[in-house]
Amino acid sequence: MLSSLASVSAEGAILLGKNFAVDAHAERPIRVVTHIHADHIIGLERSLEESLLLLATDFTMELLEILGYYVPPEKRLALSYQKRLRIMDEEVTLERARHIVGSAQVVVEGEGYRVGYTSDFKLPGTPPLEGLDVLVIDATYGSPRLQRKWSDAEAMAALLSIVEIALRQGPVEIYAYHGKIQEVMAEFRLRGVKEPFVTDLKGYKMARVAERFYGVRLDPLWLSPQDESSYISFIHAHKFDESRGTSTKIFLTGWELRAPAVKVREGVFRVGFSDHATFREIIEYVREASPKRVIVDSTRGTDTQVTARYIERALGIPAESQP
Ligand SMILES: [Zn+2]
Repeated sequence: MLSSLASVSAEGAILLGKNFAVDAHAERPIRVVTHIHADHIIGLERSLEESLLLLATDFTMELLEILGYYVPPEKRLALSYQKRLRIMDEEVTLERARHIVGSAQVVVEGEGYRVGYTSDFKLPGTPPLEGLDVLVIDATYGSPRLQRKWSDAEAMAALLSIVEIALRQGPVEIYAYHGKIQEVMAEFRLRGVKEPFVTDLKGYKMARVAERFYGVRLDPLWLSPQDESSYISFIHAHKFDESRGTSTKIFLTGWELRAPAVKVREGVFRVGFSDHATFREIIEYVREASPKRVIVDSTRGTDTQVTARYIERALGIPAESQP
């Protein structure tokens, strides 16, 4: 019976309970979006047409609208963290996940079952979902060969020192995906970086949402450089072009596994700053959550069969990679 209450579809929808399709479209009354990354809003247009409701945190709902999605008011169900909502004979809760602005884990409970999905997360800062019959987990770095040898705090320290030195020569450009950009902006301000941030309109609006999420002011925040002095531009990773202009360029990627920071050539760096749990952190999460069964999402993860086997052997919890 439990197998029908939590599974991953071929399209990447995490099917929880009887009514919920999470992070990709499926024929279910309620579509959940855990956060705004592209691989978690799969088939959103279709869900907006065909599903009865769209459920997400208030922050994610705001970001979706900034990205240009129109969520009809009668379908819009914004839920605060940890608030239980009873709907169609089931209860749903969005729990915090440390990943990007608005990120959530999802728990669905019904008569005699409790199932959940971590979505993307990193540790510390993501409370494990406890007491689950089935846990669906993300394993972006699903095997020991992908183990990062440093923490995101160390990568942040490396990033800050590169930025500090580069700012003496002029402007700095930081390339990353939505979410990571706002996290880095917040981390910089918390660590006393005072230089203006420059971003496009979308980035500017997202930064204002991030201010409330992280509880930190991000000003000065500019839409274009206002003078020649030092400033930090935040640009979407898709626009990375290392031959353009003379500013120092820093590309943030979770897939730099050689060192926290790598100098590609003069003025160009890659920094291994990730918003995903390391392989060891995935195992640590499962150990603490201690579910009866684990499903590793293979549509977004890497080496997920290895993860599942490792969980079975190291923790004695039945696990499989799906689909
Ligand atoms: Zn993500």
